[in-house]
Amino acid sequence: MTVKTAPAVPEPLDLCERAPSYVRAISAYQPGKPITELARDLGLDERNIVKLASNENPLGLSPKARAAIEAALPELARYPDQFDLVAAIARKLGVAQESVVLGNGSNDLLEMVAAAFLAPGRSSVFSQHAFAVYPLATQSRGAASVVVAARDFGHDLDAMLAAIRPDTHVVFIANPNNPTGTFLPEAEVRRFLDRAPGSVAVVLDEAYNEYLAPELRADTVAWVSRYPNLVVTRTFSKAYGLAGLRVGYALCHPRVADLLNRVRQPFNVNNLALAAAIAALDDAPFMARSYELNRAGMKQLTDGFARLGLAWIPSHGNFVSVEIPRGGGNSRAGAVYQSLLRQGVIVRPVAGYAMPDHLRVTVGLPEENERFLVALAKALEF
Ligand SMILES: *Cc1c(COP(=O)(O)O)cnc(C)c1O
Repeated sequence: MTVKTAPAVPEPLDLCERAPSYVRAISAYQPGKPITELARDLGLDERNIVKLASNENPLGLSPKARAAIEAALPELARYPDQFDLVAAIARKLGVAQESVVLGNGSNDLLEMVAAAFLAPGRSSVFSQHAFAVYPLATQSRGAASVVVAARDFGHDLDAMLAAIRPDTHVVFIANPNNPTGTFLPEAEVRRFLDRAPGSVAVVLDEAYNEYLAPELRADTVAWVSRYPNLVVTRTFSKAYGLAGLRVGYALCHPRVADLLNRVRQPFNVNNLALAAAIAALDDAPFMARSYELNRAGMKQLTDGFARLGLAWIPSHGNFVSVEIPRGGGNSRAGAVYQSLLRQGVIVRPVAGYAMPDHLRVTVGLPEENERFLVALAKALEF
């Protein structure tokens, strides 16, 4: 094949330099390495690669969701109608339909909250080591991020309350948090909500809610009618196994929902995602299997860490961050990550979360967890 060189054109530098400085200052989100990319990079067979890097459900998607996707295929020429999924969520959770907002993943909802409440001259408050989308959503609106020091890797809600400034319009709380897996008990979150100014939107990001032990689960849905400034976000990406379809939802006061809907793209959730989510909501056996697999896999991983003499942050999600011991005072997490890649195992470096000595690993199938533990032991030998 002959490759034609494109004629030299002047670069539109002027245009890019005139983008708002807060846009130019964004550093793009770093996703987990895709299996296909590692296969290309190292010439490995995709089937021999284990990806435990993005907190995906190792069981795949629910068979009911899969059947619903197939049944929805003929409708793809039509624009989507969100009504049925909104109604299904409202019915299942016992909330008004006016309180439900759908997102293209719950990431989309975090962006919508930022679009609705943040702007240059305003700020959001969130914890050190919190989910990476909070600073990104804040920055893309030209608002300032107030990052509050964590306590034992978890959110320090008293310090977060004290950090709220007159220009603060949003507080992001991840419970459990990613990548730390730390969990705030019900009483602490209630205390925060009771004391936070009603003029500040409090986002309670519950992306891992379905993985919580039943005794730790609070009725946060009921809190929405009690705290008009509360926005609870959940997702179909994690326990529901639909990460590739992009669908999540927010629960909030109808007036807040109305604002979010004004900044929402009209057709932000596609037909297949809507159909799959409706079916997934009803697939209790699949959710139970996902929960049990995660519980057993978490024990398998942490037992393995204990055998290797490694410390980890106790996690309430479907992932766990393990501490890689330093060598000669230097972090070895990057080198261990690279060694794991060469062995066909993808985990997630979290240096970008100010955790340079940790690697985050998603709970996989039993054989995947075992592959990872064997590779980790090998990686630590050097
Ligand atoms: C994965 C994740 C999300 C959102 O994922 P979506 O796929 O966009 O729904 C939100 N918050 C946290 C803490 C997460 O880990």
